[in-house]
Amino acid sequence: MASSRPLDPGERLRYARHLTLPGVGETGQRALRDARVLVVGAGGLGAPVVSYLSAAGVGVIGVVDDDVVERSNLQRQVIHTEAGVGEAKVSSAARFASQLNSGVTIMEHRVRLDARTALEILPEYDVVVDGSDNFSTRYVLNDACVALRLPLVWASISQFSGQFGVVVPGVGPCYRCLFPHPLADGEVPDCAVGGVLGVLPGVVGTMEAVEVIKIITGAGEVARDGVWLYDALSTSLTRLPLARDAQCVVCGDGDQRLFEGLDEAGRGSDVGASGAEVGEVCEIDAAELAALGDPFVVDVREQTEVDASPVPAGWGEVVVRPLSAWESSTGRELLTAAQGRDVVTVCAAGSRSARAARVLLDESREQTGPRIMSLAGGLAAWQEHAEPTSREVG
Ligand SMILES: [Zn+2]
Repeated sequence: MASSRPLDPGERLRYARHLTLPGVGETGQRALRDARVLVVGAGGLGAPVVSYLSAAGVGVIGVVDDDVVERSNLQRQVIHTEAGVGEAKVSSAARFASQLNSGVTIMEHRVRLDARTALEILPEYDVVVDGSDNFSTRYVLNDACVALRLPLVWASISQFSGQFGVVVPGVGPCYRCLFPHPLADGEVPDCAVGGVLGVLPGVVGTMEAVEVIKIITGAGEVARDGVWLYDALSTSLTRLPLARDAQCVVCGDGDQRLFEGLDEAGRGSDVGASGAEVGEVCEIDAAELAALGDPFVVDVREQTEVDASPVPAGWGEVVVRPLSAWESSTGRELLTAAQGRDVVTVCAAGSRSARAARVLLDESREQTGPRIMSLAGGLAAWQEHAEPTSREVG
């Protein structure tokens, strides 16, 4: 990202507010102009990233997406318009960016990102942003970025909350240090299933754009050694500290094993490290939950969520263990506490509980453990099942 020619008069005028900004200035603006950033996903998270990086004068912005604009995207994907419905998202994004800043070059990559295409496309860029919000892409990007030593800004969103962080290979932890095993995409509800506040990806994607600009200009400290949780309902931003895991299969001290747990197309699969089948996370619905005798219920929501809306009485013994605070010993402790009873993990919409169930399942393979289940759709789905009448009249 070495700077080349000085800024011309037009650029000096356009970026005047950056030139007087401590930490950016002319050096930072030239670094932005000379940078090449790849944005994976031109959806809710990608929209503010493409917008603000174009406005900031990032020289080359690559956009990866194989999808077309749909009407239901317009609630949050603000770079697309009604006129663009049916058009390739990469084309719609490129038109938006070039209208905003004709000095920016947009590279359209209308492909689905998998391990093969990632290793072809990523080396052309200096920084990678995950705006896809799907699990398999996040793992593909994490592994490829660590292998290629490219900084990766990642984020995910659900309903009213989001999380983000930055992987700086060789310096800080990677995404697999936090979540070693991919889930199959079907195990996690996406925006279509769980819903999402339209402005939420705007907030979280903008935070991704901020990190990209910090990486390129060197301003401030990159959001590296942790996961930042944003909760729109409580207006909170919380940092969970995260350290590199020496056992990590991608960035740890042992042999590097890329794309583990992902099939050839880069999708999550249930094939474990040894190639042996590991069990699927079993999802149960509200009726199946009610039919269980005396389950051991693990509520993995944050304490503030639990306080606002506790698990209903009569489900069995309930313990609260927010997934964000799980340590390597938590799974074993919970399995011991279950004393052979069926274990049901629960969260708001079924995403975190599926992850928690996967951790417990991996742990229980080493012992003849209890049955492990995740409540599909979370408490939201249970509520719908339990109170159909009041919902109809309400
Ligand atoms: Zn790692």
